[in-house]
Amino acid sequence: MPTSRPTRGLEGSGPGRILQVMSDAPAVDYRQLLENEQRQLLSELSELGHGEGGGLHYDSNFADTSQVTAERGEAGVLAVQLKESLEEVAQALGRMEDGSYGHCEVCGVAVQPARLEAMPATRYCIDHANRS
Ligand SMILES: [Zn+2]
Repeated sequence: MPTSRPTRGLEGSGPGRILQVMSDAPAVDYRQLLENEQRQLLSELSELGHGEGGGLHYDSNFADTSQVTAERGEAGVLAVQLKESLEEVAQALGRMEDGSYGHCEVCGVAVQPARLEAMPATRYCIDHANRS
């Protein structure tokens, strides 16, 4: 039985305990990356006038006049894209909660760390990224 204590000499005689908490921490904090992205997207949205309060002028009441439609054209398209990205980030944070974060939604393989660093909200491995 090799279960007798092999730490003889380390206990008591050392210069106090050194806490090492490195083992479980990932090399990159993806949650941090996601939160940074979330902040970035929110500030871009508010610059477009689509911040916190939700879509400015998005009520159907305003949609009747073609003038309004034209005005919100490009900024509106951009805002929609930003909101989609925000949604992706929110979903990625949600997957982080339930433990499925970082795995391809199609094949379940672990997404490459470099890819996650570049696109922390991605749902697909590199093989399935270009299929949509
Ligand atoms: Zn895949």
